[in-house]
This record gives sequence, structure tokens and C-alpha cells, in this order.
Amino acid sequence: MSPVTQLLIPRERHPGETRVAATPETVNRLSSRGLRFLVEPGAGAAAGFSDGAYSQVGATLLHDDQAAWPEVDGVLCVQPPPPERIAQLRPGAMVMGLLAPYGAETLAALLNERRLSALALELLPRISRAQTMDVLSSQANIAGYKAVLLAAAALDRYVPMLMTAAGTIQPARALILGAGVAGLQALATARRLGAVVVVSDVRPAAREQVESLGGRFLAPPEQVPAPAEQGGYAQQATEDFLAAQRRQLEEQLALADIVICTALVPGRPAPRLISEAMLDHLRPGSVVVDLAVAQGGNCAATEAGRTVLRNGVSLIGAEALPCSVAHHASALYARNLAALLEHLLDTPPEGGEPAAIPLNLEDPIVTGCLFTHGGSCRRDDVLGAGRPAPQEVAA
Ligand code: NAD
Repeated sequence: MSPVTQLLIPRERHPGETRVAATPETVNRLSSRGLRFLVEPGAGAAAGFSDGAYSQVGATLLHDDQAAWPEVDGVLCVQPPPPERIAQLRPGAMVMGLLAPYGAETLAALLNERRLSALALELLPRISRAQTMDVLSSQANIAGYKAVLLAAAALDRYVPMLMTAAGTIQPARALILGAGVAGLQALATARRLGAVVVVSDVRPAAREQVESLGGRFLAPPEQVPAPAEQGGYAQQATEDFLAAQRRQLEEQLALADIVICTALVPGRPAPRLISEAMLDHLRPGSVVVDLAVAQGGNCAATEAGRTVLRNGVSLIGAEALPCSVAHHASALYARNLAALLEHLLDTPPEGGEPAAIPLNLEDPIVTGCLFTHGGSCRRDDVLGAGRPAPQEVAA
């Protein structure tokens, strides 16, 4: 253990990744807790944070970034670091980031070989006291916001109602599928732009949230029992229910200018709510943004990372939207990590060995997201799995 705890902020190397895991603000905030930061040159450049801004708050800018990896106590990252860099870390070092742990056998083997403590932020329990650390929420919020802007930019008409000398323009109508974090932010953003918004969700609790943001809640069809709910998440719907839901949505699609798809079920492929045939109900010029595309899509015919034009309808397979809002996505992501680090420092294990970054294995926040530790995988359940069922969600 080094006398001063040193954390490395790498330049992200994953294609298209523009975010950074620590900002000058969080470096400054965490420095007061005795942490020291080593920053790779250009780490924050794509997110609008200059090397000079990190130096000003006391971070050390690296000249030879490769040499630093074996020295540090931990790495704060957005995406998993390259295997050759992980292999340089010293045993017991910590890696904290969005590590894409589902089915990540190769990564787990590498982390275990080096006996690294890896905190995969996708696995953080979604409990009230972990809200400040919840990267899924901070990034989903951005995705919901940006999805509406993409739709508005691609739409062949105004979003707000306008009264002009040339006559009145009616507001655009948006249909949002799913009222989770992304869907509610999409609703709020579409309302700010002046759209009339209808939101569908299968959880009855979503009604109040939708209505409080000025949306109209489209209750699930009554003929077939709606999927059950567990810990605030919808469970998988039966094929009969989805068929009834698709019939209900046909009418809404005919009215919609914008459709934002955010419906997800943990551990399952995204529910298919818009079939290929249903796309014929959309008018030419309308826009579908499918945020569920990485999980198979709520909408048939959307393709990840591409915009497909089908009979005049733009189908946007939206991937990695937080990267397109790199500055604030990084600012919020970095604050989430800072909150988790502060929590780790504030709750060391009782009677445990002093450690650079203490990990209290009795703490559900730690055990929830601790992917590997001491040479073994702590979340075998996520290896070979899709997105797993969440551990716990506060009401
Ligand atoms: P998610 O991304 O898993 O799903 C998005 C939405 O899709 C959910 O609202 C779900 O009910 C909905 N959905 C599923 N099947 C559908 C269907 N067939 N038709 C229409 N909608 C469908 O959800 P999320 O954004 O991660 O949030 C899920 C829950 O967790 C919400 O209740 C949210 O308020 C809660 N949450 C709690 C915390 C916390 O307490 N720390 C943090 C974040 C989210």
C-alpha cells in the first residue's frame, strides 16, 4: 500500500467513448479526503475538461502513462480498461467503472488473475441511500433527454404549438413507451418543448409520476392480466398481454409524431411493442427513437447505432446517447463515483486491515457491485447472464 492513496484517471480508449470518470470538481472534492489523482493527458478533453483544469486542482498529469499503472491503488474509469493495462495493475488494486459484467468471463478471469477488487457500477443496488451513486439513473436521464432532442431534430414539423401570422401550428404529439428513469426524463423534455405527451407503462405506480410531469398515462389493456411487478421493476409480460398492448398502441401510433421507446424488463429481451406491420400506422415524417435497441428493441426494424428510413418514418436506433452529452454525462458520472468513494472511506470494515480504499464486505452497497475481489468472482450470477434482476429498489 502506498502511503498516499493514488487513483489513476485514464484516457478512455473505447471507440466513441467521450466521457471521463473524474472531473476537476470531483478531483478537488476527493483530494480533501486524502486521495491523490494521476491523470492521463487528454483524459477529459472530449468532455471539455482540459489538462490544465486538472493540474489546477492538484492532480498530477502523467508523461509516461504506462509506467503509472503498476503504481496506483486504483483506477476510476468509464469503460473497462484495455486488458494489457489491467494486467499491469498491482494485486489488490481497485477498478471502478461501468465494467459490462454480464457474461464477462474473460474480464473476470483477468481481474481475478491480478487479484483486483473490481466494482461494476451496473450492479450497484438501486436503494434510496445509494441514489447519489446511481450511474444507471444519471446516464439514463441523459439518454431520455437526448432522445427527445434527436427526435425533434429529425421531425418534419415544429414541436410546440405556435400562433403565427400565417396561422396556428398544432403541437407535436409524443408517445413514450416505458416510464422508468429515461422515459420520465423524455416526458419532461418533450413537455418543455411543448409536445402533447402520452406515456405507456405496465406499472400502476407510474401513473402518478407521469401525470405529475404533465403527461397522459396510457394504462395497460384490461382484458389480459398485466405483468407483475417486483421491487419497482416490471416482470416479463405474457405473449397474450403483449398482443393486447400492441393492439392498444396501434391507435396511438396513428396519432404520434414522435415515439420514444424505453420499455425494459430486467434480465429479459426488451418487450416488442411495435411490430413491423404496426409501423404502417405511423405517418411519413414521424420519428421513432428506440433506446431499448441494445436489448433487442421495443420497435421492429430499428438498428443499433443507425437511422433507418422506412416509408418516410425515421427509425433511430439510439446507442450511447450519454456520450453525445459528454460534459454533463461526465460531471454526473464523476459525482456518482465520488459519492461511492466517500461512502467506502466513511464505512470501513470493523477491525479490518487498513486499506487504501476500504471495502466493507458486510455493506450491501459494496457486496452488490463488487464483481471480483481477492482472486474470485463475487457475482457469479451475472456471468453467462443477460441483465440480471435487480437486488432491491426503493419505493
Ligand atoms: P427499466 O429501464 O428497467 O425499465 C423502463 C420502464 O419500462 C419501467 O418503468 C418498466 O415498468 C417499463 N416497462 C416494462 N415493460 C413494459 C411494457 N410492456 N410496456 C410499457 N412499459 C414497460 O427501469 P428503470 O428506469 O431502471 O427504473 C425502474 C424502477 O426503478 C422505477 O420504478 C424507478 O423509479 C426505480 N428506480 C429507483 C431508484 C432508487 O430508488 N435508487 C433508482 C432508479 C430507479
